[in-house]
Amino acid sequence: MNFGKLQLNEEVARRLSAAVDSGTLSHAVLLTGGTEKERKELSVLLAQALLCTNQPTPCLKCDVCKKIKNGIHPDIIITSGEAGKQRSIKIDTIRDIRQRAYIMPNEAPYQIFIILEASGMGEEAQNALLKILEEPPVTARFILASRSRDDFRQTILSRVTPFAISEDSGQAAGEKENAKAAKAATDIFTALLSKNEYKIMLSTGALEKDKKTFKAALEKMILMLRNSVVGKYNDSAFSDSVEMRFSQAYSAKEIIDMQNVLKTLIADADKNANDNLLVTRLATELAGCIEQNGR
Ligand SMILES: [Zn+2]
Repeated sequence: MNFGKLQLNEEVARRLSAAVDSGTLSHAVLLTGGTEKERKELSVLLAQALLCTNQPTPCLKCDVCKKIKNGIHPDIIITSGEAGKQRSIKIDTIRDIRQRAYIMPNEAPYQIFIILEASGMGEEAQNALLKILEEPPVTARFILASRSRDDFRQTILSRVTPFAISEDSGQAAGEKENAKAAKAATDIFTALLSKNEYKIMLSTGALEKDKKTFKAALEKMILMLRNSVVGKYNDSAFSDSVEMRFSQAYSAKEIIDMQNVLKTLIADADKNANDNLLVTRLATELAGCIEQNGR
């Protein structure tokens, strides 16, 4: 990815580039730190990078890049709150975004909703946004930008991939936790592909004694399972990914059963059930979704 003149923390630039270049950037990202101007620049640059077809992306010269820069691309919808001013983003604005997200894009493969200074969302607006982050249409992407991850409820944070423009210790901890959850989710998926109950049991061990990571990993797995279902109908969507292999290895019913297991476990984790028991249940109940020949 080409960052133009924007100065970014090296590690963040590397992670963003890797995600954009491999087409694996999550459907919702949160950009924090830096100045308001930097957050806006990076949001626009990221939208360009996602839609520009030249390499390295964005080229900043093609029609798509220019339209986005000039704010006239029909599939880029930008909303902005006022920094630090609660409720400067109205709940109706978020409801409009939700409705619009289900409409087909005009010319791009998907619509990108950019919410700048997203701290302007009050609790109601955050709840409204959460609904669409939980069940996002495949044709919608979200870029949230704000001063700090502390501006958001945990439920929102668990649905977005965070990137900090500059150093921020709270953010760094969040990123570490996020990376840990992502690794655990991928490890469990890989073990599930082996269809070996013992390997599945071993793969969930990393989630013991850490309920936050446990829940975050399960949220990620739910999204990965969704992608696997999408992969059944569109085999170029996630080529070469663990999701794609999953979609080939399992039936839609098995995948949906697994999603239900994960949703129940997240709900039980919220009820303060015993952590280690939850991890054991994760392994046995996921393995229980696998249909065996002759059973
Ligand atoms: Zn371009």
